[in-house]
Amino acid sequence: MTAIKRFGIFGGTFDPIHLGHVHLLKKLLATKLFDEVVVVPAGNPWQKQPRVSAQDRLEMTRLALNELPIQISEIEINRDTPSFALETVLELKNTNGANRYTWIIGSDALNNISTWHEIEHLAQEVDFLVINRPNAKTDASNIPSFVNFTEIEIDALDISATQVRTALANHDDVSGLIPDTVARFIQSKGLYGAA
Ligand code: ATP
Repeated sequence: MTAIKRFGIFGGTFDPIHLGHVHLLKKLLATKLFDEVVVVPAGNPWQKQPRVSAQDRLEMTRLALNELPIQISEIEINRDTPSFALETVLELKNTNGANRYTWIIGSDALNNISTWHEIEHLAQEVDFLVINRPNAKTDASNIPSFVNFTEIEIDALDISATQVRTALANHDDVSGLIPDTVARFIQSKGLYGAA
């Protein structure tokens, strides 16, 4: 009999990926909570309006996570339909079999979970590992009782993609916010008004 594998799925718009995401993934890898960590850039994030293309967000994700032992999945990028987490999980289960699947999510996003597509079904398929973000405490009144979640403290960095986009548009120094490789990619393509 093959052992059950623990999959951690980390989805995001990554517009752009930043050092807060990288820090989170490094800390998670160190916990050994998962046998496989799968990062899934959203193709069509229906609750956000990405400023740059899915291919550029994917490429930045690859550059940022190049040295980490994780998978970067294109399943949402390859789907034309809105990037519903439920479809992503079902597809991953189809490919990888009956293992244990956990959706990794920031505390800000958990507070919004009741708006996710078919959340009741999704909550039957995965449990959630919640990363406490500075300035975003989980609020139990926002979280349906059928959502199973565990919170984890990783000293998350106070960085958001919004802050990065603003800094780039203002031509401010972003060296403490995004990896150098990502900064060079953004500059070379003139993304986010950085040119
Ligand atoms: P934006 O500022 O555009 O809303 P964001 O910084 O929240 O973007 P996303 O790509 O939307 O970035 O986030 C993907 C996931 O990573 C979400 O679950 C989010 O809560 C989490 N996350 C984002 N930034 C951090 C951070 N600094 N520390 C921990 N988790 C984070």
